[in-house]
Amino acid sequence: MSEILVLVEHVEGQVKKVTLELLTLARKLGTPSAVWAGPGYSPDAKARLAEYGAETIYLADSADINDYVVAPKAELLAQLVSEKSPAAVLVAATAEAKEIAGRLAIKIDSGVLTDVVGLQDGLIADQSIFGGGVNVQSRVTKGTPIVAVRPNATPVEAAVGAGAEEQVSVTVSEAAKSARVVERVKEEKGARPELTEAAIVVSGGRGVGSAENFSIIEKLADSLGAAVGASRAATDAGWYPHQFQVGQTGKTVSPQLYIAAGISGAIQHRAGMQTAKTIIAINKDPEAPIFELADFGVVGDLHQVVPQLTDEVVKRK
Ligand code: FAD
Repeated sequence: MSEILVLVEHVEGQVKKVTLELLTLARKLGTPSAVWAGPGYSPDAKARLAEYGAETIYLADSADINDYVVAPKAELLAQLVSEKSPAAVLVAATAEAKEIAGRLAIKIDSGVLTDVVGLQDGLIADQSIFGGGVNVQSRVTKGTPIVAVRPNATPVEAAVGAGAEEQVSVTVSEAAKSARVVERVKEEKGARPELTEAAIVVSGGRGVGSAENFSIIEKLADSLGAAVGASRAATDAGWYPHQFQVGQTGKTVSPQLYIAAGISGAIQHRAGMQTAKTIIAINKDPEAPIFELADFGVVGDLHQVVPQLTDEVVKRK
């Protein structure tokens, strides 16, 4: 079976869930190999990658790679593509990995598909384009396909792989050193799950009314073990930090359940959440466009509905 390279997303040595999704997808297309770039590799990381089917783990774990923005990772992947001739390279459709994908495509003279939500035989990708307004099927027709897959678009399934390690030596080129990382600032995280990886997201919009009122959104989220999101109207108003904005210019989420409270459902918001499996809308306007998209809708004042919902969830625990 042909080899499929999967670029591992990791934070502080922890393999992110999206990588397990990519490995699951890669198994359907060929033999998955994980590519670990940067420091932090450990036996735990190895076990996790093997548990989800990585047959080979290419290790380029020098600190050098992390010292320069994304260019060294694109160089590493280009080197592996030339040495191993894989059938495809899969990366997560995150801001960083999409940039790596673009740079890699230039280096290896091939095509890149972004915002992919499914992959079929023949490497035909289901792609969510134009801010999520249209779904198309696409295929790269030149070179080694590079596919950026949205987090949470693929259910994970474990299947043990050999996890054989192979050290890769990389020399960061002078060109790749042109942009150096000077400081890393940790995103405020708290106890809630990471927004793009959460199985449940509760988002608030302009209808929430103020920063203080976001506490009712947070309480509902906490009762469900969910992440909190926000519309741009809410983040622009300074009611919730920008890092939690969902949408075209914010984060893309594909949770099992998305609850939109006081959000009208503008196309730019939909772009970031419409691949959620189940959508619940709470809005006082029965004509709000979000109801066209929602699986379940509550027409009502969120300041009453959300606390009642939270009480009910807590009662049933
Ligand atoms: P509104 O559209 O004002 O809707 C508020 C809703 O709350 C209304 O439907 C109202 O009926 C309801 N409501 C009010 N009070 C209550 C209450 N008490 N109880 C229940 N419901 C109530 N937006 C994003 O979200 N993410 C993006 O990434 C993004 N990117 C953009 C990029 C560009 C280039 C542009 C031009 C716009 C972008 N926007 C984005 C903005 C987008 O167009 C909308 O303006 C925004 O999504 C509106 O946010 P909202 O739904 O919270 O507010």
